Amino acid sequence: MEHLLEINNLHVTFQTNGGEVHAVRGASFYLKEGETLAVVGESGCGKSVTAQAIMGMLPKPHGNVKKGKILFNGREVTNLSKKELQHVRGKEIGMIFQDPMTSLNPTMKIGKQIEEGMLKHQKLTKQRAKEKTIKLLKLVGIPDPSRRYSQYPHEFSGGMRQRVIIAIALACNPKLIIADEPTTALDVTIQSQILDLLKELQNERDSSILMITHDLGVVAEIADRVAVMYAGMVVESGTVEELFENPKHPYTWGLLQSIPKLDGENSGRLVPIDGSPPDLFNPPKGCPFAARCPYAMNICIEQIPNNKYFSEQHYSICWLNDARSAQGKSIQTERGGLYV
Ligand code: SF4
Repeated sequence: MEHLLEINNLHVTFQTNGGEVHAVRGASFYLKEGETLAVVGESGCGKSVTAQAIMGMLPKPHGNVKKGKILFNGREVTNLSKKELQHVRGKEIGMIFQDPMTSLNPTMKIGKQIEEGMLKHQKLTKQRAKEKTIKLLKLVGIPDPSRRYSQYPHEFSGGMRQRVIIAIALACNPKLIIADEPTTALDVTIQSQILDLLKELQNERDSSILMITHDLGVVAEIADRVAVMYAGMVVESGTVEELFENPKHPYTWGLLQSIPKLDGENSGRLVPIDGSPPDLFNPPKGCPFAARCPYAMNICIEQIPNNKYFSEQHYSICWLNDARSAQGKSIQTERGGLYV
């Protein structure tokens, strides 16, 4: 089956006064129709920049796709004109941003903000757009939608504003919803309601979700598959079960260990990943996690490992998964032999 979204060897850089930042370095993943893929990693790993690149929203002129392909519904997004991109953005891809307060226009009534996309992309009459907007408000769980239609964002609570953002993202029935940390600014009970709502709406409409998050709890609750990003690269990917039950990359192990536990040996203690991510002005030539990895070997500093597959969709990039490292044998690198 053709994938709805395919990212192949994506490289994104930013020009700054201090030099070129290599924010995304060869990321690849795909998303099937009706599926939810979570892209997970710590701040600065390139997950939000990847989402911006898909939406054609990289800050210009500093942010650029340097290499690679972004195929949405069989079309190369990076080759689209500004007008075509606006069409894709409004009609075929909906975006849910992190902060519901700053994503809404405080001077515009809620109903008008939801209608904007429908009037532009679906050419509806004003009356029809209003009817659809009131239906949408009801669908996302806003009580008394006819009255709420004429209110301003400051008259809504944080959770309700996020529901409005979801309504805006859904207004034109997009095939793909990109949700960038959609629950980070909300308290835990509202987080769970918003995730339930997204799941419900996805089932109803059969849309796909690309969920950008740093929260493994969100991943477990909503995703079918996961791509773990570190320093601009996907270091492990697989189904949620594969990642949680049989993780293969030391960074994924670190992420899982840093989840608070209620019982067992380490209950009540958080296990952090020591160190900090590499400098992306001058990225390492070998494994990006080498400086923080307790299992790092000589070869890790020298060369990035290839993808090693454990199932059709589960792979990781780590020298530990090379059979020779398990046997303590030397591995031939591009620059000659290096002992593991
Ligand atoms: Fe650690 Fe080496 Fe694997 Fe990187 S390749 S995660 S440094 S063992």
